[in-house]
Amino acid sequence: MRDEARATLKIGDIEITPLLDGPLPATLGKIPDPRHRAEAEKLLESAPADALTMPVFGYLLKLGARHALVDAGAGALMSKELGQLADALAASGVSPAQIATIYMTHMHKDHFGGLVDAAGAAVFPNAELVLHETEAAFWMDRAFEDMPERAWRFFDVTRTTLAAYGDRVRRAREGEDIQGVSAHLAPGHTPGHACWLAQSGGKSVLAWGDLIHIAYLHLPAPHVVMEYDLDPALALQSRRRVLDWVTKDAIPVAGAHLPAPGIHSIARRGEAFGLATG
Ligand SMILES: [Zn+2]
Repeated sequence: MRDEARATLKIGDIEITPLLDGPLPATLGKIPDPRHRAEAEKLLESAPADALTMPVFGYLLKLGARHALVDAGAGALMSKELGQLADALAASGVSPAQIATIYMTHMHKDHFGGLVDAAGAAVFPNAELVLHETEAAFWMDRAFEDMPERAWRFFDVTRTTLAAYGDRVRRAREGEDIQGVSAHLAPGHTPGHACWLAQSGGKSVLAWGDLIHIAYLHLPAPHVVMEYDLDPALALQSRRRVLDWVTKDAIPVAGAHLPAPGIHSIARRGEAFGLATG
């Protein structure tokens, strides 16, 4: 059993607790460049045996007296192993009705599936659902035929999930502070993929979605791109920029697919990065 209390990070008036949604297998077959694939295979030889299984985390934020989430897990939209975030939330003593804000990193199923129940109704009856305005525009303002082909399979389910929240969907401008948490675009994985910076008492923690996919690969070899990203070149630029930022400013990170317990400090190692230990 994971010790929730120990996994919680407290900064100023903010507490951030990882909520494990379940495991999501990745495959090196999604690396289009064969030299990069060979490099990845070699790197993973010295990684933990389950390095290719990405955990899916959402995060519970306690912002003073308010409760918020970053992402909502996969719900019932993916595998049977996923969708555990609701139980993790209950175990931390918070009900869905208490969630006032949900900060979305991006609109992919492993991050938004938990927003709705099996009947498609909103799981969080009082929550405002916040997307970076670029992500909102990509999914909400375009016709299906104007979407890139690789986004087609997400189109209907994304629209219906957002519709369940109706006028409670809010578009955040770049840098806009919403209850002490601000939006920072890190595009490429999706056009409006965003990191959320929570700040209190002069300290910060940064939550990201898919800035990296496989920690034991993308931290030591950030240049290895995968087809999970809609625009791999742009995703790589964002990855380098945000990794530079969090290492330079020593900002702890709450990553959707970082290894347990999900919140880590990142260390710079020359041109590469790693999980800081201790
Ligand atoms: Zn993801």
